Amino acid sequence: MTSEANKQALSVETLLTHLGREPDDQFGFVNTPVYRGSTVLFKTLDDIESQQQRFLYGRAGNPTTEGVETIVTALEGAYRTRLVPSGLAAITIAILSCVEAGDEILVTDSAYEPGRKFADGFLARMGVTTRYYDPRIGAGLAELITPRTKAVLAESPGSLTFEIQDIPALAEVTRKAGIKLLVDNSWASPLFLRPLSLGADIVIHAGTKMFVGHSDAFAGTISTTKESWAAVEATRGALGFFTSGDEAYLVARGLRTLAIRMKEHERRTLEIASWLETQPEVSKVYHPALPSHPDHALFKRDFSGSGSLFSFTLKPAPRASVAAFIDHLSLFTMGYSWGGYESLCTPITPGRIRTAVKWTEEGNMFRLHIGLEGVDDLKADLAAAIERYARAR
Ligand SMILES: *Cc1c(COP(=O)(O)O)cnc(C)c1O
Repeated sequence: MTSEANKQALSVETLLTHLGREPDDQFGFVNTPVYRGSTVLFKTLDDIESQQQRFLYGRAGNPTTEGVETIVTALEGAYRTRLVPSGLAAITIAILSCVEAGDEILVTDSAYEPGRKFADGFLARMGVTTRYYDPRIGAGLAELITPRTKAVLAESPGSLTFEIQDIPALAEVTRKAGIKLLVDNSWASPLFLRPLSLGADIVIHAGTKMFVGHSDAFAGTISTTKESWAAVEATRGALGFFTSGDEAYLVARGLRTLAIRMKEHERRTLEIASWLETQPEVSKVYHPALPSHPDHALFKRDFSGSGSLFSFTLKPAPRASVAAFIDHLSLFTMGYSWGGYESLCTPITPGRIRTAVKWTEEGNMFRLHIGLEGVDDLKADLAAAIERYARAR
C-alpha cells in the first residue's frame, strides 16, 4: 500500500483492510501494536534541531494513532485527520478552530445535545454566540449569516430526529460567505456519505460509535481540507488533547470490519424500520431511507447507504405504557451511545432541547440502534413490547 495511484483505484473494503499498518516496521506482525509513550528519543544535536523525525513527542501521536488517521483520511477523501479522545472532543476542537471572541456560529437544531451544551455554556463564556437553525433550511441559511458568523455546524441526519440536511446547498452558502462548514458524519460513516466531496470543510466522527463498533472505547476524528487543517491541528495542540495507543488500537481493530458491519447493520435496520411502519400502534418511523421520510429524495441524492440508528413514535399513552414497553425487553438493552454489535432502545424527548423549530409530534418516542442479533429475534422482542404498551394504556 505505498503507491498513491494504487490507493485511488482501490475499494473502501480494501482500504479498510490494508491501510494504516506497516508490517515491515513491526517485525512482520500484521497489526501495528499499541504504542505507549511520551518521550521519543533523538540521537544527535542535528536530529533535535531539525525536527525532521517522524515522531517528536507522544502527545502529537504515535504509530498506532497515525494508523487510524491514515485510514480515515483515505475514506473521507481528506487532506489529513486527527484522532482525538471522543466524538465530543472532535466537535469542540473543530468549532474552536474556527472562532474567536466576538464571533458567532450557526448550529443545526437537530445537533447532538452535548455539543449544544458546549456552545451555550463554554463558547458563550468565551464571547462566542450561537444561533440554532432549522435543519431543513438549505439555501435559506444565507439569510442567517452576518459578518460575525464564522462557522456552521451540520449533523445529517440529526441523531434523534433524522432530518437530512442539504449539505451541497449549505456548502454553497458557506463558501460564498468565506466561512467553514462542519459536518458530523457519525451516522452514515464515510462508507455512505463523504461530506468533503459535497463541499464541507471539516468532517467530525464519533469514532466511539461505528468505527469502534464494540462499545468498548472512546474516540473522535476530525478530517479536513488542506485549508482547514492548520487551525484544527493548532487548536488540538494548544489544548493538549491526546489519544492513547490503547484506544487507537481498538479504533483500528474496529475499522478493519467497518464495511461489512455497516452493510449488516443497514440490512437489519431497514427490515425492522419498515416492519415497524406496518404496526398499528406505531404512528411514525423516522428513517431517511424509508420512502415515507420527508427527506427521502435528498437522502437518495447524497447518501449511498444508511446507518443503524433511527427513531419511531408510538401512539399517545401514559408513562406506564412506556415503562411496560421498555422495562421488559429481552434483547434490546437501554443505554447511551450506539454503534456496537448489541441492539439498544432508549426513550427520547427531542422537544426538550429544540429552540429553532418547535418539536410538536405527539406520542412516545424511542430511538433504536439495530445490532447484529438475528433480525427475527429482534422483531419478536419489539412485537411483544408493543403488545405490552397497548395493554398498559
Ligand atoms: C455520540 C455522538 C457524539 C459524541 O461522541 P462521544 O464519543 O460519545 O463523545 C457526537 N455526535 C454524534 C452524532 C453522536 O451520536
